[in-house]
Amino acid sequence: MQFYSLNRQSPAVSFKEATILGQAPDKGLYFPETIPAVDADLLHNIENISNEEIAYRVIHPYTGNEIPEAVLEQIVSETVNFPLPLVPVTDTISSLELFHGPTLAFKDVGARFMSRCLGYFSKDRSEKITVLVATSGDTGGAVASGFYDVEGVEVVILYPSGKVSSVQEKQLTTQGKNIRALEVEGSFDDCQQMVKQAFTDEELRKKLFLTSANSINVARWLPQQFYYFLAYKQWKEKNNPPVISVPSGNFGNICAGILAHISGLPVTHFIAACNANAVVPHFMQTQEYVPQKAVATISNAMDVGNPSNFVRILEMFHHEFPALKEKFSSVSITDEETKQTMKRVKEQHNYLPDPHGAVGFLALERHLQNHPGEKGIFLETAHPVKFYDVVEPVIGETIPLPDSVRSIMDKEKKATQIEATYESLKTFLQQR
Ligand SMILES: *Cc1c(COP(=O)(O)O)cnc(C)c1O
Repeated sequence: MQFYSLNRQSPAVSFKEATILGQAPDKGLYFPETIPAVDADLLHNIENISNEEIAYRVIHPYTGNEIPEAVLEQIVSETVNFPLPLVPVTDTISSLELFHGPTLAFKDVGARFMSRCLGYFSKDRSEKITVLVATSGDTGGAVASGFYDVEGVEVVILYPSGKVSSVQEKQLTTQGKNIRALEVEGSFDDCQQMVKQAFTDEELRKKLFLTSANSINVARWLPQQFYYFLAYKQWKEKNNPPVISVPSGNFGNICAGILAHISGLPVTHFIAACNANAVVPHFMQTQEYVPQKAVATISNAMDVGNPSNFVRILEMFHHEFPALKEKFSSVSITDEETKQTMKRVKEQHNYLPDPHGAVGFLALERHLQNHPGEKGIFLETAHPVKFYDVVEPVIGETIPLPDSVRSIMDKEKKATQIEATYESLKTFLQQR
């Protein structure tokens, strides 16, 4: 499969090149030249097909002959090797729990797939690849875990000091080996700015082969389709396809769901559930796309003021607004509503969503109130314990730590503190 740049000023490239480059030289996002249709048998028989095989059949058209069959089988089986259960919460609403992976957030799926692809592609390269990534919290841990000990790949993660949760910090600073954490005396925006500057520094790039592992990389985006198919496998009422509500920040996750739908997955409607960062809800009302500076909320992984992946959604609908509007809506939920939802769902349904999942739940519940007879799924994108500092005061209880978290909380944090200047990042990268 070839991938073209949505800015259309760079040549089309293979899956391998798109994975290694991350972003096109013209700064556009890569997009597949055709969207493959899944075969009818996959959907008809889905209950009888293993998760590994579903994943393989969904991704194979994109990787083509660039990854040998046996290697791709291995990669997908390591990508979906944890439970992805669909759990009923009310009569009409189910939770797709995406937090059973090593770092308790859905980003594990994309990070595990991408790291293994990059590891495979770097085998025949003499030069090491350096993955440089800025995180506001969840990406760092997922990337650290996914790339741990992958040969030929060094990872440098920048995170804002004091602005990630304690679980998130441990997840990205305790791995060691090929994973380095930089604790930046600044904000997430500073971290992202420093990373961006590194990518445009020709002098540095002559010495280091740099790539990014953020959600615009096709090898992180495309495998996120897997769990939409796995949700459908567990969906009982096949004649009544679900409404799917996705807590959205950079819009990579929902964009993968829409791609799965265009490939044939039955879905009635998609809801992009946002927090106060409401650029897309505003666009859906006015057809004007106005990027904003991100504001801080309690669902911090969705604090994005200019969602990168939204252009991919527009591309999938051929930039036709009426078609988009029919399949897709987007709403903004306040922090106060998020807290009330966590508390209410816990009390009424004995189910505790994390702050991101709660945004998805409420958006879905409101939609279903206006569409009687429909049923739906919200994506529970992280385990509530990752945000215990926010969740515990709301429910007035402590959340027990899962074993995987308890073991890392005892590990020693290893991070290099640097100032929020590009010079300090460059010095660090050149000294290694
Ligand atoms: C990253 C993240 C999101 C937002 O996902 P996008 O693909 O950026 O829209 C939502 N919830 C959690 C817990 C996340 O970590």
